[in-house]
Amino acid sequence: MIGQAHGKFGGGKRRLIKQTQKKTAEGNKPNFSAMCMVGNQSGAVGIGLSRAKEAVSAKGKALHAAKLGLIKVRMGCGSWKCGCGMPHSLPFAVTGKSGSVEIKLMSAPKGTGLAADDEIKKLLGVAGFKDVWSKTWGQTRHKINLVNAAFEALKKLSGTKSERSVRQQ
Ligand SMILES: [Zn+2]
Repeated sequence: MIGQAHGKFGGGKRRLIKQTQKKTAEGNKPNFSAMCMVGNQSGAVGIGLSRAKEAVSAKGKALHAAKLGLIKVRMGCGSWKCGCGMPHSLPFAVTGKSGSVEIKLMSAPKGTGLAADDEIKKLLGVAGFKDVWSKTWGQTRHKINLVNAAFEALKKLSGTKSERSVRQQ
C-alpha cells in the first residue's frame, strides 16, 4: 500500500500493489498486480487494475486504466437522520458485487465519517464522500474484489447511468 500523492486531478491517488510469484520453466518470475484509485474529491472516481513484470509498469498501467475509467457519481444527503441537503454522502443506498464479495453503501448523517473497510474508505475518500455506512458480505479479505464491488455500487450513482446497466439487472 502506497500513500496518497497529489495528481493531475488535484485529488488523491491511491495504489494497492501486490506481488505474486509464478513458477515457470525459467524459474520464479515475479508478477506485479497494481490497483490504482483516482478521484477529484468532488464526485469523479476511477479504478484501474493491471499486471506486469515490473512494479513500475504495473503502477503506470493501473493509473492509466483508472483515468480512462473515471466515472462521475452523484453525491447527496440521503440520510433521513440528517437532511442537510449537502453533498457529503450518497443520495441513496447502492449495492455492488464482484466475485464472492457484495457490498452495500448507505447514506450516513454528517459527522459519521466513512464507516467501511480501509480500502473502501480510500475509494470513497478520493471520490469525495465524507459520511458513508457500509455493509459487506463474502470474502472481504479479497481486497481487489472488495474495491471492485464498491466501484460497481458507485457506478449506480453515475450521472451517465446508462440503460445498459439498468437492462442488465
Ligand atoms: Zn446531510
